[in-house]
Amino acid sequence: MSMELTFLGTGSAYPSPHRGASALVLRTDGESWMFDCGEGTQTQLMKSQLRAGRITKVFISHLHGDHVFGLPGLLCTVSLNLPHEPKRLQCVDIYGPLGLRHFLRVTLGLTASQLIFPYAVHELEPTSDQSPEGGQSSREDTAEHGCLLPQEQEGRNILLDPGSDSYLLFEDSHFEVRAFRLFHRVPSFGFCVQEKDRPGRLRTELLKELGVKPGPMYGRLKSGENLTLDCGRVLTPGEVLEEDIPGRKVCVLGDCSSVLGQAPLRLCCGADILVHEATLGDEQQEKAVEHGHSTPKMAAALARECQVRTLVLYHFSQRYKPPALQKEGEGDDVCELKRQAEEVLQGTGIEVMLAEDFFSVSIPLKKPR
Ligand SMILES: [Zn+2]
Ligand SMILES: [Zn+2]
Repeated sequence: MSMELTFLGTGSAYPSPHRGASALVLRTDGESWMFDCGEGTQTQLMKSQLRAGRITKVFISHLHGDHVFGLPGLLCTVSLNLPHEPKRLQCVDIYGPLGLRHFLRVTLGLTASQLIFPYAVHELEPTSDQSPEGGQSSREDTAEHGCLLPQEQEGRNILLDPGSDSYLLFEDSHFEVRAFRLFHRVPSFGFCVQEKDRPGRLRTELLKELGVKPGPMYGRLKSGENLTLDCGRVLTPGEVLEEDIPGRKVCVLGDCSSVLGQAPLRLCCGADILVHEATLGDEQQEKAVEHGHSTPKMAAALARECQVRTLVLYHFSQRYKPPALQKEGEGDDVCELKRQAEEVLQGTGIEVMLAEDFFSVSIPLKKPR
């Protein structure tokens, strides 16, 4: 299965002609999952190779506008364009902090926007230590107002599981997605997408020797079933399958000046890709932290602790122009942010990448253990 991460917006605070507001998409063979949806994401999406109608899940890290203002508009546009898409009745699952359900009901409700596909908002309940005093929305603001909108389905209210110190959002036979807590001016979350290990390749030469012809029996062995041969011998999958292929892991953190608890370290450990914000350079760390943000050094320290394979930096202050537009010696150079992270990661083998709008990175299958 192919897996690819595409950045649609890499700027902080607001969209500019050079950088869209936060949004990225993880695409696998059949589906696209979006992480954050800042203002203007739908036009960025149209400029990319991705198709809005393929989005089946949306994960919102926190309720700051640069991460969520684009969501109502995107949903409406998807809805308008659906007749041209293959008929789809699948529910779009939207995950995000408490208050997101209210935000969508007010914006879609007041604008009389009618979606033609079903959707559900699953809310994560933050803990009080995820933001400074006053950073949490009041109960009144986040309470559910009114009834379900047409096409809105009942969503889940997801509480922190104290055992794992994380939120289990979703699990199927291919993936498990968990959220973990971050510290920011308002409660913010990180997401860990863990692909499950898959069975290794069939030893077809051996099967041929045993007289098992290609066909449904191969599938049964691969799915873990024993097979009784005509001669009475029982063949177990362990005999005819190569080693398991380890699942890939992608972690995307929302805005933060730190992580909370042990879960982020555990969940991000060994990630193929860690996507971390770096709003300002190390020389402005005090200002960054004051605003609930990180610098490259801070992002790299987490990447180092978690021994990830690749650190991708994004959510840059709009003062940083993309390298192609940067004139030498003029203004702030985004490449300096990469150098700052690389300094911390020297000798670790961890690669640092700078995300630009429409930058894509594919996550190759791992080698069998
Ligand atoms: Zn932001
Ligand atoms: Zn923010």
